[in-house]
Amino acid sequence: MKVLVVGSGGREHTLVWALARSPSVTEVLAAPGNPGMQKQAVCHAVAVDDLEAVTALALGEKVDLVVVGPELPLTLGLADRLRAEEIPCFGPGADGARLEGSKAWCKDLMARAGIPTAAYRTFTDPDEALAWLDEGQGGIVVKASGLAAGKGSIVCADRDEAKATVREIMIERRFGEAGDMVVIEELLTGEEASILAITDGRVLLPLVASQDHKAVGEGDTGPNTGGMGAYAPAPVADPDVMGRVHERVLGPILAALNGEGIDYRGVLYAGLMIDEAGEPRVIEFNCRFGDPETQVVLPLVNGDLGRALLDAANGDLDPGCLEIADGAAVCVVLASGGYPGSYEKGFPIRGLGAETEDVIVFHAGTKQTEEGIVTAGGRVLGVTALAPDIRTAVDRAYARVDTIEFEGKYCRRDIAWRALER
Ligand code: AMP
Repeated sequence: MKVLVVGSGGREHTLVWALARSPSVTEVLAAPGNPGMQKQAVCHAVAVDDLEAVTALALGEKVDLVVVGPELPLTLGLADRLRAEEIPCFGPGADGARLEGSKAWCKDLMARAGIPTAAYRTFTDPDEALAWLDEGQGGIVVKASGLAAGKGSIVCADRDEAKATVREIMIERRFGEAGDMVVIEELLTGEEASILAITDGRVLLPLVASQDHKAVGEGDTGPNTGGMGAYAPAPVADPDVMGRVHERVLGPILAALNGEGIDYRGVLYAGLMIDEAGEPRVIEFNCRFGDPETQVVLPLVNGDLGRALLDAANGDLDPGCLEIADGAAVCVVLASGGYPGSYEKGFPIRGLGAETEDVIVFHAGTKQTEEGIVTAGGRVLGVTALAPDIRTAVDRAYARVDTIEFEGKYCRRDIAWRALER
């Protein structure tokens, strides 16, 4: 079958890589794709949020399946648009994508379904939010309800910082209309893990649990980024915890979505905080594969991913059709110096190529020029290594990282430290 992957980052490169290895997949296309994919896919210069152009491409190329990487086109209704043309799409419609597109709606849905999550309140009036914080109630995590490129959740040190954050989001409108509504919630403690489950709207196929590193600095310090690295499996999510997540989180949210009349076909991504007793609480749901988590999760999946995603898109998923491989995967993100603040682009990248079975270099912010491949974004590359254990995977990943050079190259040197410290 012919599959079109929508997106251009490391997540989408990983999807292309995994789909190209799927026995059922004969051809992969990407829109717009990136230079790293060119060995496995034909890239078409179509923007992810141009729903008409993506649909026209899928129709013109007679693709059998569209796999949508980023959340933006899903919230805009790309899956609905494709389904109206009878093109199978892996990714929820705009109704299901609200899970990510409106944190306030998602929190209310969780509350009604009894899913464990942080206590919260929602505000549309900044004065009410500030007055409520003044009364000394509630927690100190402030979130813009709408899409803010993963940067809309701010964990505040105290109430003064929380009030300043409310002003920034609601009055100065740092995230634009995404911050017209805010969720203020209790601070959860424990260890984080991400669980991505494939669903056809009826059954769930949870993949291996992973942990990502959002903060730019070592020891998980400094401002949040799109993700500086990840590893899987996350030891905190042992089989007991995975069982609880299935029973108390994934099953109930799917049932709640069904209860809203939503036929959800795609990835249910649960971002979790797991306390010392192994009790999971939901930090957030996302409506698509995580990045960089995907860069460690998909390399640990055995089986025909293309077939599984098509079956999910068609509402006919066999939850036993994929297996989790033994061993571990670690991904180190190479970023442009200055990221997540301002940074320069256009620097030549040396040391690409040289692929092996257990070390893969996924492209994110790169661009092909006449002089070769150059940097073109904050997160430039993801270097993923596979090994029997996390320690060996870490060593393999950093050995490869050190063979890649570009001006201003920055990476964290402590990816997977929590797993190594255990
Ligand atoms: P989100 O955008 O909701 O995924 O949040 C981004 C990051 O902020 C999460 O990965 C957590 O590290 C942190 N975070 C968000 N909400 C909470 C919370 N209620 N308690 C503790 N940490 C949180």
